[in-house]
Amino acid sequence: MSTRQQDARVIDGNRRPEWARSAVYVDGGWRETAAGRTVEVENPATEAVIGTAADAGVADTEAAVSAAAAAFPSWSALPPPERLAVLERVYTGLERRRDLLVETTIAEIGAPLRVAREAHVDTGMAVLRAYLDAAEELAWQERVGNSLVLREGIGVAACITPWNYPFYQVLAKIGGALVAGATVVLKPAELTPLSAYLLTDTIDEAGIPAGVFNLIPGPGRVVGEALAGHPAVDAVSFTGSTRVGARVAALAAASIKRVSLELGGKSASVILPGADLEPAVRASVEAAMLNSGQTCTAWTRLLVPRADLETALRLAAARADTLVVGDPTRPETDLGPVASPAQRHTVTGFIERAVADGARIVTGGTERPAGLARGHYVRPTIVTDVAPDAEIVQEEVFGPVLTVQPYDSIEEAVALANGTPYGLAGAVWGPDQGAAVAVARRLRTGQVDINGGAFNPAAPFGGYGRSGNGRELGRWGIEEFLETKALQL
Ligand code: NAD
Repeated sequence: MSTRQQDARVIDGNRRPEWARSAVYVDGGWRETAAGRTVEVENPATEAVIGTAADAGVADTEAAVSAAAAAFPSWSALPPPERLAVLERVYTGLERRRDLLVETTIAEIGAPLRVAREAHVDTGMAVLRAYLDAAEELAWQERVGNSLVLREGIGVAACITPWNYPFYQVLAKIGGALVAGATVVLKPAELTPLSAYLLTDTIDEAGIPAGVFNLIPGPGRVVGEALAGHPAVDAVSFTGSTRVGARVAALAAASIKRVSLELGGKSASVILPGADLEPAVRASVEAAMLNSGQTCTAWTRLLVPRADLETALRLAAARADTLVVGDPTRPETDLGPVASPAQRHTVTGFIERAVADGARIVTGGTERPAGLARGHYVRPTIVTDVAPDAEIVQEEVFGPVLTVQPYDSIEEAVALANGTPYGLAGAVWGPDQGAAVAVARRLRTGQVDINGGAFNPAAPFGGYGRSGNGRELGRWGIEEFLETKALQL
């Protein structure tokens, strides 16, 4: 079967009328965009067009916000168990579509099969499950002295999501919002609308009341800006770049809406003296390269004791060189392409400027991987001999690039780890948990994995500094979409 035929199968497998691919979902039904415009969606591995999506505009945004505002009073007034029952049906519907979601994720973002299944789809499902579980235990009302404190849905929530984990990012927002009793207008990333269409099919089938959930794929500069500034939108939850996050916050300020920002990262993996070097380096390389490095929490900076630098570089290069780069549909593939030609250009530009700045490429580089003439592939790249203020150390690359830096003292390791404007994630590897936790407490960052601690879909997720504000996931991700009212009795 040719790749083009495989792509066609992904789309045919959707079993949804072709017209719907050009549609928005507003007020409980599919409709053409006001201007009738569509955009094509490309597979970044094959460069083939694999589908179309709506190219919504301001009129569609108005319709979606109106529908969400109209649906809010009754959705928020439902007892939480009734909202949860609808979302349980969504969960079951997504489970039924798991294989199709995996195929679609491979096709629209180029994630390798295993990564698409585990890191994209299953983790997205785990996040929804954690929201449903957290809702059971949330204090929807409590007594404080003579007051009854009520937690209520915030109103209309605009959710604006990026392309790097399209399914997961959407669930991380709409799961919390819908559980809270907010109504939602979703604008997915332009590059990756297809999984959002599948999710919307599932939500529609689950019998959600009209207007509670609305999907309007469209350009950030048009639909995203219209949502961020809209006076009838009560909360905007944005995941994406720090530059656009600042713009969203500025637009939202005029109407004093709540703003949650999940932005970029430049996270450090700190290996302490006495830690087991080989597994720590291996895991750090794998985390940096996961999803072709297009992970906001990627540990893109590896910090090692100076005495261990050469060994760490050898181990890191060895692991990077054994990563299989190529066709994401094949089970043995570790790295697919990056998301777009623009992203490839951005990543290789960072590598070129780092070299011009005196950095040493330990392995990888800007050449295409052997045998891959098509697709936006970048070789897993390890860079060293970099100054703490070098661009490649300070700026988010969002590609499969890891810098390795030595340090001479714990003080210096902490200073280097905290030495960027970001603070989203990180790792500490120590000879024991206590030593690693002591250093992790000093890191100005939202999440730290200790000696390989696993991702927890119920734990708060979010950034310090320019990595954003607010928290997603679990109880914290529901609270982002709650208002608090006190009745004095
Ligand atoms: P992006 O900022 O370009 O776009 C994100 C979303 O915002 C898209 O839906 C886009 O259409 C929309 N948008 C673009 N311009 C807009 C505007 N002027 N007003 C309103 N909306 C606008 O980011 P991206 O390139 O899609 O994603 C990559 C970035 O996202 C990286 O910086 C990455 O670190 C970040 N990210 C952060 C997290 C996190 O949880 N902290 C998670 C994933 C990705």
